[in-house]
This record gives sequence, structure tokens and C-alpha cells, in this order.
Amino acid sequence: MTNNYAPLLRQYGFKVTRARLKLLERLNRATQPMTAQELHAELADAKMDLATVYRSLNKFADAGLIARVQLGDEFARFEFVKHHHHHHIVCNSCGKVSEIELCNLDALSSEIAQKTGFRNIAHHVVFSGDCQDCASKQ
Ligand SMILES: [Zn+2]
Ligand SMILES: [Zn+2]
Ligand SMILES: [Zn+2]
Repeated sequence: MTNNYAPLLRQYGFKVTRARLKLLERLNRATQPMTAQELHAELADAKMDLATVYRSLNKFADAGLIARVQLGDEFARFEFVKHHHHHHIVCNSCGKVSEIELCNLDALSSEIAQKTGFRNIAHHVVFSGDCQDCASKQ
């Protein structure tokens, strides 16, 4: 069941371990970016301590196998690399994270390029608000 991830690990130069396979498998099923703590809690049977989970995630992210996501709090979260540009919106009340496939900031980037002379401009934007569930409880 976790076999698909072995070639991926090798491709990125990582040794294939059971724990690493479980980590990738769980992350690929995630519907939102996850913290090392969350992954560690869910993979209790993989017998990986939190430090190892954290170290593996950071190594994977440095190698470009997964992506590091900052959502404006003190936690680093991780998600599988998606090959399209997207953003996240975080609920102020329950912390739920949704993916946003829309982005119209390219025009702004070209304007910034013109005004500042910067090239290869990237942006890191996190949206926040009240999710549908929380808004309906207000
Ligand atoms: Zn909410
Ligand atoms: Zn995402
Ligand atoms: Zn964008």
C-alpha cells in the first residue's frame, strides 16, 4: 500500500524506511497542510519520535519533495508539492485551512517589478476569516 512512495524517496536521494513511507503516505492523504505534531500524533504506530518526524519533514521540504507552508502562526506546516500556484485561507475560530485555487496577484507583481526593478517576484499570502461552519454559529 505504501509502495508508491519508495521510488519517490529514492528519486530524491532518501533512504527508504517504513517510517518515511508512512509519513509521505499520510501527508498525501491530508486535506490541509499538517504540522509535525499532527503527523506525529497520527503516526504513533510508526515508532518515530517527534524530533525524527520534524527532521524528516524539513529534509523533504529542503529537497523539494514536499512544501513548507506558513499560515501566520508559530507552526511550520507541510503539504505535498502541488504543481499549481495556490493559496490558503485559515479560519480565525477553528483553525480549519482551505485551499484557494484563485490568484490574481500577477498583475500586481508586474507593477511592482516596473516600480522597483525587482525581477522574479514571488508572493506569500495567507488569507484568514470565519469558515462557513463557524460563521453560521455566530
Ligand atoms: Zn471555523
Ligand atoms: Zn495547499
Ligand atoms: Zn498567488
